[in-house]
Amino acid sequence: MMDFTPSPAAAFSDAFQAHIDAAMEAANQAQPPRNYIGASRLGEECERMLGYEYHQTPKDPDAHFQGKTLRIFDRGHDAETRMANYLRLAGFTVLTERPDGRQFGFGVAWDDARGCYRISGHCDGVVTAGPDDFGPYPKLWEMKALGDKGWKDTQRKGVKVSKPLYYAQMQLYMAYLGLADHPSLFTAINGNTGEIYAELVPFDHAAAQAASDRGARVVSTLTPDELPRISKQSTDFRCKFCSYAQRCWSEAQPAAAEAPAPWNWGN
Ligand code: SF4
Repeated sequence: MMDFTPSPAAAFSDAFQAHIDAAMEAANQAQPPRNYIGASRLGEECERMLGYEYHQTPKDPDAHFQGKTLRIFDRGHDAETRMANYLRLAGFTVLTERPDGRQFGFGVAWDDARGCYRISGHCDGVVTAGPDDFGPYPKLWEMKALGDKGWKDTQRKGVKVSKPLYYAQMQLYMAYLGLADHPSLFTAINGNTGEIYAELVPFDHAAAQAASDRGARVVSTLTPDELPRISKQSTDFRCKFCSYAQRCWSEAQPAAAEAPAPWNWGN
C-alpha cells in the first residue's frame, strides 16, 4: 500500500501558500474595475456578462480569482515577454511598445464622464520584419500561454474554432490598428511542454464587424439587464462558471452601480 501521509513540510507549505494567496487576492480585489470594455472581451458570447462587466456590477460574493489563478494569469503575461525575445532571437523585428513606453492600442466612443474610451484594446505587438518564409510584414502579433489541453485543442482546430475570444480580439486589432492587409501571427506556448503553436490569421471583416457591433450594443445600454442572456436556463454550463450567475438568475435583479448615459452613435 502507498503511504499518503503528508510530508512534515506540508503544513508549512500550505500555510505559506495561503499567506501569499491572501495577499494576492486582497490586492486583486482592491483594484478598481475597468470602466471600459476591452477588445479582449468582445468575443465573449454572453452579452449580459459583458454588460455586467461594463457597468462595473459587483461579482457574486463567492466569485473572485484565487491566488493560483492569478499566478496563472501572471505566467501568461511573462510568456509574452519571453516569446517576443524568442522571435527577436530568430530574426524577427517585433515592436511591443511605442517610444514613450505605451502599448499599441486603439479606443473608440470617448466618454467625457469616465475620461476614457468606452471600447479600447492593446495588442501584444506588431512584427514589422522577419524571414521571408513567414511574411509578409507588418503583421499584428498576439501571444497566449496555454495549458496542455487548451494548446492541443488550438493546434487541432485552429484559433477561430478553438479560441473564438482570441479570434475576435485579433480581428478588432487588425481593423482598428490598420493591420488588416496581412494575416496576423498568433503564437501560443504550451505551458507543460514548451512547444510553440503558430498560425497565420487573415482579416475577417464579418467577424470584426460582429465584435464591434457587440461592443456598441453593450456600451449603449443603461443597465446590463437590457442585454440578452446567453441561455434560457440557469443550468447552462456557461452560467455555471460565470461570476454573475447569482445576480443574473435571481428574481430581483439589483440595479448596477453608476449606470452611464447611453452613447450617441450619431444615427
Ligand atoms: S449567468 Fe449565464 S446568462 Fe447570466 S451573465 Fe452569466 S453567462 Fe450570461
